[in-house]
Amino acid sequence: MDTSSLKIISLVAPMYNEQEVLSIFFDAIEQCFSNIDYDYEVVCVNDGSSDNTYDLLKRRAERNARIKIVNLSKNYGKEIALTAGLDHASGNAAIPIDCDLQDPIEVIPTLIEKWEEGYDVVLARRIDRTSDSFFKRFTSNIFYKLIDKISDIHIPSNVGDFRLIDRKVVCALSQFREKSRFMKGLFASLGFKETTIDYIRAPRAAGNTKWNYWKLYKLALEGIISFTSLPLKIWSYVGATVALGAFIYGFYLIFKTLILGVDTPGYASLMVVLLFMSGLILLCLGVVGEYLARIFIEIKGRPMYIIMDKIG
Ligand code: UDP
Ligand code: MG
Repeated sequence: MDTSSLKIISLVAPMYNEQEVLSIFFDAIEQCFSNIDYDYEVVCVNDGSSDNTYDLLKRRAERNARIKIVNLSKNYGKEIALTAGLDHASGNAAIPIDCDLQDPIEVIPTLIEKWEEGYDVVLARRIDRTSDSFFKRFTSNIFYKLIDKISDIHIPSNVGDFRLIDRKVVCALSQFREKSRFMKGLFASLGFKETTIDYIRAPRAAGNTKWNYWKLYKLALEGIISFTSLPLKIWSYVGATVALGAFIYGFYLIFKTLILGVDTPGYASLMVVLLFMSGLILLCLGVVGEYLARIFIEIKGRPMYIIMDKIG
């Protein structure tokens, strides 16, 4: 078959210790694209895996020239690995995809169909998340509600990184070089003509999840801090309210002392105020610190990731 005139779809797959799923993943892709009239490339980003992922990738790439490898120098985390992959995607459209088959390959033809209808972004929404734990669904729900309320962007709920984006969206995204990255938020802030399709999220094909609650919490914090400065500004209001309270209480104390005279006991109330206020101040300092740390990281202007080698 002459493939030179076909449109190319770039599948961008970040991989961190994924030796168990690699071959099923590539089998599924090869199978899928043998049935449709599109050419493809798989941009695999080895995110500093400590297992055999890289060797397996290289071996597979020798057999299939459509597999390209970006080998990062260490583990940078999924958000940056995905960015590195998108930076190297050369197709007419790109699809960020997890290699554990939780983002079903069968959905790809539908994504492409919608793209051909003229949409620049085709979101894939998971309608069944029973493969995730109750706690994970509960916390992610709260997160999406919160970020919707306090920031300007609207992140569609139950949509992950799995989606199809047109070449021009990839180019737009590549202009965002911030190092503290929350990809879902960046995607959402771009605009473009978008539509959504539904799919059922399967459990992981093999291997273990690379996320734990601490990492998820940090990702959520990243999302909030990169897309709203409300946590930073809210302290002037909290401060004003507390100061008003303190002012009223101060007046009350002065009058009480003038009328009833000095009464020494007051240790409890003093202690409470002291502890409450120092707690507030520390909390507020912490929030300022979160933003300051990010400014510090950005201002150094270091590269977002370092590539050890590339194949393909
Ligand atoms: N991943 C990565 N770097 C990391 C953590 C994860 O590239 O530091 C990749 C991982 O290999 C997988 C995808 O991100 O392809 C999603 O990870 P995982 O399936 O563990 O997350 P979950 O589906 O449980 O949210
Ligand atoms: Mg997964």
